[in-house]
Amino acid sequence: MTLAHGFRKLESREIPEIHTQATLWRHEATGAQLLSLVNEDENKVFGVSFRTPPPDGTGVAHILEHSVLCGSRRYPVKEPFVELIKGSLNTFLNAFTYPDKTCYPVASANLADLHNLIDVYLDAVFHPLLPERVLRQEGWRAEPDSGALVFKGVVLNEMKGAYSSPDDLLSVTAQRSLFPDTVYGLDSGGDPERIPDLSYQGFIDFHKAYYHPGNAYFFFHGDDPEDARLERINAALEGFGPRDVRSEIPLQPAFTEPRRVRKGYGVEPDAPGAKAGRADKRSMLVVNWMLPEAGDLQANLTLQILEALLIGIPASPLRKALIDSGLGEDIAGGGLELELRQMYFSVGLKGVSGGRLNRVEPLVFGALEKLAKDGIPGEVIEAAVNSVEFALRENNTGRYPRGLHLMLRSLTSWLYGGDPFSPLGFETTLRAIKERLAAGEPLFENVIESYLLRNPHRSTVILEPDPALLPAAEAREKERLAELRRQLGEEGVKRLAVEAEELKRVQETPDAPEDLARIPRLKPRDLAPENTRIPCEASSVGASMILAHDLDTSGIVYLDLAFDLGPLLAQRPELAQLVPLFGRCLLDMGTTRRSYVDMNMWIARKTGGVDPLTLGSSMLGARAEAPPVTRFVLRGKATLDNLDALLEILSEMLLEVRLDDRARFKQLALEEKAGMEERAIPAGHQMTASRLMARLSRAGRFNEMCGGPSQLFFLKRLAKTSKAEWPGVLAALETLRGLLVTRASLVANLTVDPAARPRAQARLESFLAGLPAAPSTVAGPKGFGPAFRKPLWPAPGIPDYEAFVIPAGVNFVGKAVNLYAQGYEPHGAAQVASRILRNGYLWDRVRVQGGAYGAFCLFERLSGNFAFLSYRDPNVKRTLDAFDAAAASLSQLALPGDELEKNVVGAIGDLDAHMLPDAKGYSSLVRWLVGDEDAQRQRLREEILTADPARIRAFGQSLESVAREGRITVVGALASIEDASDKHWKISSLL
Ligand SMILES: [Zn+2]
Repeated sequence: MTLAHGFRKLESREIPEIHTQATLWRHEATGAQLLSLVNEDENKVFGVSFRTPPPDGTGVAHILEHSVLCGSRRYPVKEPFVELIKGSLNTFLNAFTYPDKTCYPVASANLADLHNLIDVYLDAVFHPLLPERVLRQEGWRAEPDSGALVFKGVVLNEMKGAYSSPDDLLSVTAQRSLFPDTVYGLDSGGDPERIPDLSYQGFIDFHKAYYHPGNAYFFFHGDDPEDARLERINAALEGFGPRDVRSEIPLQPAFTEPRRVRKGYGVEPDAPGAKAGRADKRSMLVVNWMLPEAGDLQANLTLQILEALLIGIPASPLRKALIDSGLGEDIAGGGLELELRQMYFSVGLKGVSGGRLNRVEPLVFGALEKLAKDGIPGEVIEAAVNSVEFALRENNTGRYPRGLHLMLRSLTSWLYGGDPFSPLGFETTLRAIKERLAAGEPLFENVIESYLLRNPHRSTVILEPDPALLPAAEAREKERLAELRRQLGEEGVKRLAVEAEELKRVQETPDAPEDLARIPRLKPRDLAPENTRIPCEASSVGASMILAHDLDTSGIVYLDLAFDLGPLLAQRPELAQLVPLFGRCLLDMGTTRRSYVDMNMWIARKTGGVDPLTLGSSMLGARAEAPPVTRFVLRGKATLDNLDALLEILSEMLLEVRLDDRARFKQLALEEKAGMEERAIPAGHQMTASRLMARLSRAGRFNEMCGGPSQLFFLKRLAKTSKAEWPGVLAALETLRGLLVTRASLVANLTVDPAARPRAQARLESFLAGLPAAPSTVAGPKGFGPAFRKPLWPAPGIPDYEAFVIPAGVNFVGKAVNLYAQGYEPHGAAQVASRILRNGYLWDRVRVQGGAYGAFCLFERLSGNFAFLSYRDPNVKRTLDAFDAAAASLSQLALPGDELEKNVVGAIGDLDAHMLPDAKGYSSLVRWLVGDEDAQRQRLREEILTADPARIRAFGQSLESVAREGRITVVGALASIEDASDKHWKISSLL
């Protein structure tokens, strides 16, 4: 038995699928477990997780997750977490509360940086200071505010925001309905009405009970030396002894018969446009099934494939049955949930009228019974198996570090006493499934039968709009505060006022420089002086360009086709807003040769997917009103063997798409509308931002037309297209295709292993030759009625001050200006200054003191657009005032050298963000299109590295224009909006 740094080696395994040697260690003195993955990934990950079963709905686990990062024994500053964000090269830094665990992961490609992050995180979880004021700041407090007593707190507002989203509420309710007897029946995030029940003692006791090494799961991943990992953790655990922490997560006893839950969700009763009857079409219904434990690998992978098979793509039989029924607008439910001890599956419809709700459940069961009885077509199974297998092999975690994904996968077994290794591999399980299918076993038919149709442990959850709900919740909160006031008496309320003052004083007092200096960090001299470059080779092929990036892609070809929207915008600008839906049409309308079902299946069988997107950006160095770069991009990926199939697919969809199916088109419009509505509340800041940018640059306007409120309004209008209007819409779609699909000015972006590139590029060249040489115009009705037609620029109908009402207890506040138009000369110091504002002034004023869940600023280097934004914010007026005072905070800032250095390091971290090969290839394409070339980016790096206080203050001075000339958009609650607005504001409804 090997012993090293107090750890005993329990088991070691090679996991060939991820090129990793994995070892499980046990800390002798405390019983802590440590899983160590050694491989070649430079994006190193560390995480520590604890089992944290919540005792109630007060959100104690979640509030503690926020609070441990607010000062610890060795780092006694207000927010070490923020200091790390300011000045590290981290590629990931966050913390998550799950229904049964709390995870603290960090990642960095720089080893010294990773060690700094680990040291601060370990001290935070094991030795947090947790004074009462932190609970009051991060959790909840009652505070007198302009005469009235009100509740405040960061988590309280975060959860009010979450509970305002019907889709979030639906998933919480679905989970709770299946697990009434376990911790999964509680909301670990915190029910906004229960959060004020949490006492300081309860908060402290929860930390004492669960944040012990005996209940800890340490994780490492990457190319750093294993021995140093053990040494570091051993040192951090000094002083702890063994302890048996009772934190097992029990299994939910099986139901003997299905259950039903009916619940209301809030809709704004007073919002303009919320007419009676409209709300009727907004009910949701999902059916939920309890499934085996996530650690059962065979069941786990089988169910992942089953999910892809049933609802993965529009052609999937269950999804198709639900959509084709016309009973609702889009499918609802989270699909397969894999991150709890027991898996569950949840599916249904949203946008259903109340009278038709009772038809949804029979529809779901009818579709499943048909599959189980008649059998599933081989092609459908093949498509599902290929999609899941492609995703496993590609292991594309997007902006998440791969190691973090592996940690979470491992915990699905490890956290419940199972082995941490098995969930990391997949070959054996996948092979077994394929063999059973090859032998003719009706595997998925049987699984549908046993796990779904004959499974009594299921629930049906119905969520219905209820205009009385929000006022009732507000009334309950008022009553509770009134009761509190009675209990406290005059004296007690005075005491709260004193406490509020005291909290504010602490929040406003800067940390002592000697305490801040304790936080370990990199210095600018530790940073590489040069940007890392992405290989890019450009060659013209006739009127097209090919950009090729030689990168290690593990046998996958990534291909982006970027069509120029310039001719379209010049000739028919009103069609711009149709581009995103046109992208959906290419995939989901079918072609002259095959139905959309066959097209979908073909894509799923042969590729890793094809995705359309629109890209709008200003050119580097151009004026905001100059024509922007606008592209329609089709992004596809496949294994090298399937490159020919991918090109055939792309060619057929582009040249032979059938656009004339009105019913299908309306269905797609409805789905896209429902998707945007679902995102509108959780991501209200994106709506706010897009609207702000739309007034400031042409690119911003284009992006808003394609992805902001204008797009949502447009989709609503399209979803109602009448028979009489249809010829006009069809002609518009055909015109769009004619103007768009051409090899003229097309840029094809190829990211592939160097050895495979010559062959791939040759195939690509012959593909391009098959596209039309020039845009074509289509004769026919111009139709696309006046109701749709709006010029693109200058943005019409967007007033300087506007607000959109949503049914939510929180706001998303934004104010913006174009700094280049105000005379600011572009300089890299702006990147540093924006970080100083975001992590200093805005964090303190809007989040810590104002109680918003988030506050930030966006500076677009290419356009000069600058926006202040808040996220899940209880205030509007107060936040706008804070934005207006930001300029002064920066131009008068006494900027200690340490503070400047930290933010320089952080800005370089942004520049050096870690990317997977597909993201590198795509970023390189975008940089090429907008003229942001290596020389310019190197200059940016040098300007960041040499940013000085004078440059920062100059940026602050230019921000004075925000108070004077800034445009305002708010998405939020009617009461807060009315409180802030004057008669110049235009107020309307978003949903
Ligand atoms: Zn949170």
